[in-house]
Order: sequence, then C-alpha cells, then structure tokens
Amino acid sequence: MITLSELRTARGELARKGGLVGFVPTMGYLHTGHLSLVEQARTECAAVVVSIFVNPAQFGPHEDLDAYPRNLPGDLDMLAQAGVDLVWTPTAAAMYPPGYQTWVTYDAPGGDVPLVTAPLEGSMRPGHFRGVATVVAKLFNAVQPDKAYFGQKDAQQVVAIQQMVRDLNFPLEIVVCPTRRERDGLAMSSRNSYLSPAERQAAGVLYRALSAARSAFDQGETNPARLREMMREVIAAEPLARLQYVSCAHPDTLVELDSPIAAGPAAGALFSLAVFVGKTRLIDNFLLRAGVWMTGQ
Ligand code: AMP
Repeated sequence: MITLSELRTARGELARKGGLVGFVPTMGYLHTGHLSLVEQARTECAAVVVSIFVNPAQFGPHEDLDAYPRNLPGDLDMLAQAGVDLVWTPTAAAMYPPGYQTWVTYDAPGGDVPLVTAPLEGSMRPGHFRGVATVVAKLFNAVQPDKAYFGQKDAQQVVAIQQMVRDLNFPLEIVVCPTRRERDGLAMSSRNSYLSPAERQAAGVLYRALSAARSAFDQGETNPARLREMMREVIAAEPLARLQYVSCAHPDTLVELDSPIAAGPAAGALFSLAVFVGKTRLIDNFLLRAGVWMTGQ
C-alpha cells in the first residue's frame, strides 16, 4: 500500500515519462464493469491509475458500509492483469484524519436553480453526494489525472461530478463509459453479490422495466407520467422487488419531466429507478440523448 506522498512521487514519474494519465476511482470488489473503465482509459492514456477506497462519507448511518464486499488481493490481481500502472488504496484514517473538516457540497445562490444532487439518489440517501464529491475532489487532487473515467451506471454521480469539475475548475476531462450488463440485462455491480439465487433471478426486473419504457417511447408514447407508470407496473409484478423510486427526468438538470418528451433528434430523458430486491438496493438507468438510447451492453 502506498502513501499519499509515495503516490505523488509515482505520479511525478509518470509525468516525466509524458503522455496522458487516466484515472479510475472505485470502491473495489472489481467486476467487468470496472475493468471496462480501465480498458477505455488504457486506449486513451499513456498511464492508468486506479483507486480502491470504500468511502465511509458516502454511506448513510443505516447503509451497508460494514457489509460492503471487499477483496483487495483479488482486485490487485485483476488490475495487474489489466496492465494498470498504479493502484492507490488509501485508508479511511488517511483520507479523513482526526480534525478533518472540509467538505464539497452543492448549493445554488438564491436557491433558484434545481440542485443536481437533490432528487433521485440525493433524496433517498441524504449526504451521499457530499461524501462522493468530497472524496472525488480529494482523489483528483492526489492523482492529478488528465482524464477520469466514470460509469453511466451511476448516472446522477456523473452529472454531480461534471458539475463539480466545472464549478471548481478541476483541470481534467470526465469520460463516461457505458453500463456493462449480465446476460439478462442486470447491470453489473459489486452489490449483486448480496443477492440469493432467487433474488438474482428477480433482479433482471430493473432492466425489464427500463426496456418496457424504451419500447413504449420508441412506439410513440412520449408522456413521461405514463412511461413512469409503465416501469412501476413491471416492478410491481415481481414479488421479490420493492420499488423505491422511478424517474423520467431531464438528462442534465435531473428535474422530473412533466410535458411530452420531444421526438427525433431533440429527444432527451434520463429513465432511472431504485429497487430493493430482498434487502439489496439496486439502481439502473437508460439515457436518451439527442434521440439516441444509451442503455449499455
Ligand atoms: P464503484 O466501485 O461501484 O464505486 O464504481 C466505480 C466506478 O465504476 C463508477 O464510476 C461506476 O459508475 C463504475 N461502474 C460500476 N458498475 C458499472 C457497470 N456495470 N458498468 C460500467 N461502469 C460501472
């Protein structure tokens, strides 16, 4: 495990070698989705840095911080095979030492702009994006990447990080990578390891709900309320699933749409949902941007 100052030295060596440095922040327990971010970084950058840090600050008091799956040796193996140049695995004590008191929060002057962190995950997980933005800012400052890679799987996280990068002048580019899926469409996630076999089978319902909305839209249904209702019905038909929220929102502001989605190349909407399958909370989304669906693969 390397310290922050060792990381800085190693980063300096990468700078001397020249070329872009790509960065993939993760919470570990790596799967093909994470590795697809690493692969993308490798095609675009001379060197790739990965962090593994289960960030306590983004978990609520009743969430799964202690249970969150961990397998550092397995992760390091996978990253070595993937040809990663540097892995940083800071401890919570190093990231948040006693006396720590600086946080990144979202707040619009006058309160007249909808906050991108307020709805969806932000409304269900108070403090989550304060934790995410703070740790990502710290990781960016430590690694100083030219490009940072995030998964579309966490759509609101992407919007929140892009907002932070603009607002706080981070000198880097955010690259968004498609959601990697299992054969039945379930988005890969470290949390899928919590699922029992029966729950695992039921978990395909998120993808089926999103697919139902996409098909309906493609066949001419542009009313966001009806599209949300359609997703609700698919989830309700799965006995092991309990819907937490379903959304059809503006892809940039994340405000719920209440008028018909434009057709053709102007069409834009983020369809997203959070569902408990048993005790496991899963999220997923399909993004419709400029009339093109981004659903992952
Ligand atoms: P996590 O370890 O869950 O914090 O995820 C680290 C990064 O991997 C985030 O940018 C995630 O959005 C991304 N990621 C997680 N699951 C997937 C997936 N199935 N496909 C693509 N990217 C993913």
